[in-house]
Amino acid sequence: KKAEETLGFQTEVKQLLHLMIHSLYSNKEIFLRELVSNASDACDKLRFEAIDKPELLEGGADLEIRVSYDKEARTITIADNGIGLTKAEAVANLGTIARSGTKEFFSQLSGDKQKDAQLIGQFGVGFYSSFIVADKVTVVSRRAGEPVDQAVFWESEGQGEFTVADTEKAERGTSVTLHLRAEEDDFLSGWKLREVLRRYSDHISLPVLMQKEEYDSEKGEQVKKDEWETINQASALWTRAKNEITDEQYTEFYKHVSHDFEEPLAWTHNRVEGRSEYTQLLYLPKHAPFDLYDRDARRGVKLYVKRVFIMDDAEQLLPSYLRFVRGVIDSADLPLNVSREILQESRDVKSIREGSTKRILSLLEDLAENRPEDYAGFWTEFGQVIKEGTGEDMANQERIAKLLRFASTHNDDAIQNVTLADYISRMKEGQDAIYYVTADTFAAAKNSPHLEIFRKKGLEVLLLSDRVDEWMLSHFRQFDGKSFVSVAKGGLDLDKLTDEAEKKHQEEVAESLKPLLERLKTSLGESVKEVKVTNRLVDSPACVVVGQNDVSPHLLRLLKAAGQ
Ligand code: ADP
Ligand code: MG
Repeated sequence: KKAEETLGFQTEVKQLLHLMIHSLYSNKEIFLRELVSNASDACDKLRFEAIDKPELLEGGADLEIRVSYDKEARTITIADNGIGLTKAEAVANLGTIARSGTKEFFSQLSGDKQKDAQLIGQFGVGFYSSFIVADKVTVVSRRAGEPVDQAVFWESEGQGEFTVADTEKAERGTSVTLHLRAEEDDFLSGWKLREVLRRYSDHISLPVLMQKEEYDSEKGEQVKKDEWETINQASALWTRAKNEITDEQYTEFYKHVSHDFEEPLAWTHNRVEGRSEYTQLLYLPKHAPFDLYDRDARRGVKLYVKRVFIMDDAEQLLPSYLRFVRGVIDSADLPLNVSREILQESRDVKSIREGSTKRILSLLEDLAENRPEDYAGFWTEFGQVIKEGTGEDMANQERIAKLLRFASTHNDDAIQNVTLADYISRMKEGQDAIYYVTADTFAAAKNSPHLEIFRKKGLEVLLLSDRVDEWMLSHFRQFDGKSFVSVAKGGLDLDKLTDEAEKKHQEEVAESLKPLLERLKTSLGESVKEVKVTNRLVDSPACVVVGQNDVSPHLLRLLKAAGQ
């Protein structure tokens, strides 16, 4: 290597390294999963680029990952013959975290080891997980198509700095060598590495190879042979038959495609034949990513065409309200050179999107019915996004509506667990509307004076305080033939729900209040449209309402906040 150069990590990398080593130590073998996952991604990328530029393969199209260890040197090496890195790419990708939402991520760290480990896991530590077991990491890489002497040497002790230099490398691709910490000798064993790798890489579609070993009775230990053997199944997981895939393999594959450390909540795996032919393996994560509402956040699933990786985050394959879904769609119809632009127009993509949406909705329905506790957890994490679906996906509005959960005056607590069907089953004789109140917070909704008469009459009201609620109700006006009606709107017709004696009493009261009304009207003047006697209030003397056709005060505030 020549012309060494020492550079500093981005601040976030330093912070992350420190935290990660401490929080993830109990799960330290995940470094193998991350490095094998990166090697596999690198091979996928090469295969993709080689569609247009076959010369990148340099005559060697057999993509593979080799894992080896050296007991004397106390190192483990993970080598791939994938796309490789240029020096600039190594500096950019191994020295920084180029993810959106990095700031929010750091602001959420609490110092609580367990919570932080979970968050770090969600964020995805990837390459840096090497430093959990290594006190020095060396990367040597050559990008496919670059000359042999245009390789890069990268090295770091994970202390805030890294060194880069030019070097030579005969084979294309990347080799990552971990210099193990003193206490990590366990990993210097073919048996141990195989055990971990089988667990973490069985779903990887390329062969992961290790040198064969044999017991040497003279030396009294395992001795490596020159021959290499494949230690995983090395076929794309989604192409295998469902009954040949274990839950553990599904789970590991999820972690690979989603960059999530946690197990998935549920998945659906199907081969679709007919007009459009594709395989889908789609997962629901357990937790929302911290950048769920970030417009630039990655979203979507991995797209393959006939098992060739085409792109990450193909957002066209699912509607935006299902942006948290992760997984793979492998199409038999799309051309290999399909671009994001083509995806937007394609009829095949349209039918994949429709089919995948239906599958996810079925998965959610199944979850709601058969694993209600898990569905409740799902709703807490992703409910607000699902609500977007009521306006975004009119074709499935009915199905989405049944998946909705609300807080209501029935339980009077903030937990959203009331379905619209529950609400309807509790509707009073003569009630023909679904009543709701919106506010900025649950407490404000629950304490709204507009609720008084409803509580008195025993009429249930949905308590809506999510940002998306007003928007949702502007698209979603009816369910099961019943309109949504705000309790804050004027001219509420509760007549049908009032008995004769009460009506008579109300009329008398209204009559006796006429002089008061006149005085109020004169003194309030222009600031109000009208002053009316109401039967809505029980404890409060007065309240402000908006006209039947006016914008609600809550929405008005939101619009003002948005500068409109
Ligand atoms: P992620 O895999 O989520 O992108 P990582 O931290 O695992 O994040 O890796 C960071 C980046 O480093 C990758 O996106 C890739 O650009 C680069 N990289 C890591 N390992 C390899 C490899 N074996 N070959 C080529 N590039 C790699
Ligand atoms: Mg990675």
